[in-house]
Amino acid sequence: MTREMTIAEKLKELQTEINGICASVGRDPKEVKVLLATKTVEPARIMEAINAGYRLLGENKVQELKAKAEPLAAANPEWHFIGHLQTNKVKDVLPHIKVLHSLDRLSLAEELHKKLSQQGKTLEVLVQVNSSNEESKFGLPPEEIIPFTKQLKDFPTLKVKGLMTLALFASEEEKVRPCFKIMKSLFDQLKAENLPHAEMKELSMGMSGDYKTAIEEGATILRIGTKIFGHRQYPDTHYWPPKNS
Ligand SMILES: *Cc1c(COP(=O)(O)O)cnc(C)c1O
Repeated sequence: MTREMTIAEKLKELQTEINGICASVGRDPKEVKVLLATKTVEPARIMEAINAGYRLLGENKVQELKAKAEPLAAANPEWHFIGHLQTNKVKDVLPHIKVLHSLDRLSLAEELHKKLSQQGKTLEVLVQVNSSNEESKFGLPPEEIIPFTKQLKDFPTLKVKGLMTLALFASEEEKVRPCFKIMKSLFDQLKAENLPHAEMKELSMGMSGDYKTAIEEGATILRIGTKIFGHRQYPDTHYWPPKNS
């Protein structure tokens, strides 16, 4: 007789696997956090994960985040925004999030800084890198990352904590690994710059299909959805609209 594993069981299995991968490459598993990508997952199932000890949650649509923030508020999760953020949605997302993973343009930095200044608040941000170049339309190309990150000093409400990438949709290891290596290289270069506004602590990369490779290449935040919550009803393109929307 077989039954489906519970969310808590799947999380336990994932954690065991993460610990094993870390051990194999000599990393401390405490350096690798699991951020649950909760798009399309209803609050009751997200609660199961929170009760199992996982409180870092990521959404990539502002409406969906707003809808879930209230029913889950009592559990006090830490929300990260991981999708493309339209400038006109900044005011709606700011009340809910601790970290924005998808900073990819100066106009967005300007709008964030404007709203944050008015509210006397700061926000942790990751700069999104298009590490696979032609394969994905999201994030800035690698060669723009260092100058862009330096420019962010003009927006003192933004606390740069690191870099994020969405690798490829087709997770073939030999194609994904070079993307992660580019990320680690940019991360190390920025760290060496010692920019006061860019602390460089987090490397957000790796999803259900490629987290093993991501850990091996230095990820500190894995964004995991399908592996814990099962397959989604919508194609992922539904969540990753074109860059200029
Ligand atoms: C959905 C999503 C993930 C998780 O993807 P899975 O393949 O379901 O693990 C990670 N990052 C972002 C930005 C996402 O939208």
